[in-house]
Amino acid sequence: MYCNVRLDAAIAIATDRLRDVSESPRLDAEILLGRTINMPRSYLFAHPEDELDELTVERFENVLGRREAGVPMAYIMGIKEFWSQEFAVSPAVLVPRPETEILVSLALCEIPRDAEWEVLDLGTGSGAIAVSIACERPLCNVTAVDNSEDALAVAAQNARSLAPGNVTLELGNWTEPVQDRVFNLIVSNPPYVRADDAALASLRHEPRAALTAGADGLDAIRVLAADCGNILADGGLMLIEHGFDQAGDVASLLESHGWTGICCHND
Ligand code: GLN
Repeated sequence: MYCNVRLDAAIAIATDRLRDVSESPRLDAEILLGRTINMPRSYLFAHPEDELDELTVERFENVLGRREAGVPMAYIMGIKEFWSQEFAVSPAVLVPRPETEILVSLALCEIPRDAEWEVLDLGTGSGAIAVSIACERPLCNVTAVDNSEDALAVAAQNARSLAPGNVTLELGNWTEPVQDRVFNLIVSNPPYVRADDAALASLRHEPRAALTAGADGLDAIRVLAADCGNILADGGLMLIEHGFDQAGDVASLLESHGWTGICCHND
């Protein structure tokens, strides 16, 4: 991009460059430019004739280049909206997906408003699920586990800034750090993408360990099926996200470990 380019021209050029990589190239271009000049998007339309100086062009090129390389907007901006709140995200965590809000909503259907339940989120990543449940059910204690220290740092930041003090973080593999505890509800959005899934190419900027789990994608769910029964209270419940074509396999896995009352919800 050239020096003294007008805002409207800069948006047009950037939109063009993002066409192959983004489903919303113009919106991305506007958001990135707004961030670069530290102004709301509305400013771009109110002052299309403003010109970018050399330093600003350089800064815009920097974020635009990352987006062109396929880096998700959430990583460039450092935030992602989930359950109506702005979560901090970094490349150490999976970008929270809108479909995972269904997991939160199913969990909230199960937890009475006045319940003082122990809730466990395994593989919490950014903490989006744990923090959202904690906000909606302030009387519950939510424990969030992840085996990545970098992910837990992000979750800690989100718990601190968004939750009312009822989220506890634990470092470790799945149920390992909570083996002597009992939970009323366990939730998890584990990695479940098959190792040979073509979709992984477009997810290459996100942590592989948060996406894939063995050849059939079910290794993490195998661990949950095997270990979570031991830390579940009588009448307790586990809610897990899985791939669109894994319902049958997940149900058989759970059954083989003695789980009952298994049901599947589509997103
Ligand atoms: N649903 C995500 C995707 O395909 C994967 C999330 C996960 O593995 N837990 O983009």
